[in-house]
Amino acid sequence: MKKELFRKELAGFQSYVPGKSAEEVQEEYGLTEIAKLASNENQFGPSPKAVEAVCKAASEINYYPDPFAFELRKALGVKLNVKPENIVVGSGGEEMISIIAHTFLNAGDEVVMADPTFGIYQTTALLLGAKPVPVPYKNCRCDINGMVNAVTDKTKLFYLCSPNNPTGDILTDEDLDYVFSHVPEDVVIIIDEAYYEFAKENPAYPDSLKRLEKRENVVVLRTFSKVCGLAGVRVGYVITSPVIAGEMGKVKQTFNVNRLAQAAALGALQDEEHIQKTVAGNARSLDMLYEFFTEMQYEYIPSNANFVFVNVHLDSALIFEELQKRGVIVRPGCAWGWKTWLRVSTGTEEQTQMFIRRMREIAGTYGRE
Ligand SMILES: *Cc1c(COP(=O)(O)O)cnc(C)c1O
Repeated sequence: MKKELFRKELAGFQSYVPGKSAEEVQEEYGLTEIAKLASNENQFGPSPKAVEAVCKAASEINYYPDPFAFELRKALGVKLNVKPENIVVGSGGEEMISIIAHTFLNAGDEVVMADPTFGIYQTTALLLGAKPVPVPYKNCRCDINGMVNAVTDKTKLFYLCSPNNPTGDILTDEDLDYVFSHVPEDVVIIIDEAYYEFAKENPAYPDSLKRLEKRENVVVLRTFSKVCGLAGVRVGYVITSPVIAGEMGKVKQTFNVNRLAQAAALGALQDEEHIQKTVAGNARSLDMLYEFFTEMQYEYIPSNANFVFVNVHLDSALIFEELQKRGVIVRPGCAWGWKTWLRVSTGTEEQTQMFIRRMREIAGTYGRE
């Protein structure tokens, strides 16, 4: 009998279809100018202090990195007022989510999450034969009640994403109170705060770290990719109980965060100025986008992050193509089943204006569905 070569979980997977890179788009359409507003990258550049630290560290890449990232965990601990034992560092938030899945999930376990949300929660669960349980948004809001009701005896992980990607809305302290008082202690609540520094400008954004004091099974996830502008070197981390951190430490690869990434993160931690500059630039870009959406009568979800989700009342796959031809790359909502919505990352003033100009042209041609 011929044996099945590939893991059976892979049969249900779509091959990853990457979007075109800025370079490919530029070449294909013969464009001089490209605004890539599709991946929530920091368009204001990386932290200069991180760049400086990477240059210094480059002469030592013949040595393995510190497998425990001790200096970085210590510095994070001081900043966040937690102990290094509470922190696990990984090669981006994405690796942390994969480590979370490998730490907790057996085949058949259930993972509750919102829909739409960050796709990696689902793929990491499916890969291990676990069952994602997506709970649809209601009236453009996370259905916290529905998510709590979706918990069963088989539920292991309960994902909250705040601000949620792709919608940009946050959960309030009241939302968290409801979840924490209704989800049983033997379910791990994960709060993905990839956009923390943008969101904390909003007074309604809760201090999730204080939840760790009251419950062991909580994991808060953050990353250096977004506000610090370090998406290219890959550093993310979680804050959790020492017990969970210890188990996650068994799962992670020994040298998972490379030397340049550790140096970059340490540099960025010293760079409050860069964070403030980014947050301010982000707010300006959002204001420009909101003004345009209001003028066009597009409904949008007010954002707490560096992207905004907007209903352009036209097929998002078409708009994606039309924008791309004109040098603007966004993420079409059809990726999450929201057919007429787009997720647009914020950018520099020029990039944001370019998006607005191109979108206005396209709307002029196609009108409204
Ligand atoms: C970007 C993002 C992450 C992590 O990104 P990394 O680059 O892997 O650190 C995690 N969660 C959400 C919701 C994100 O948008």
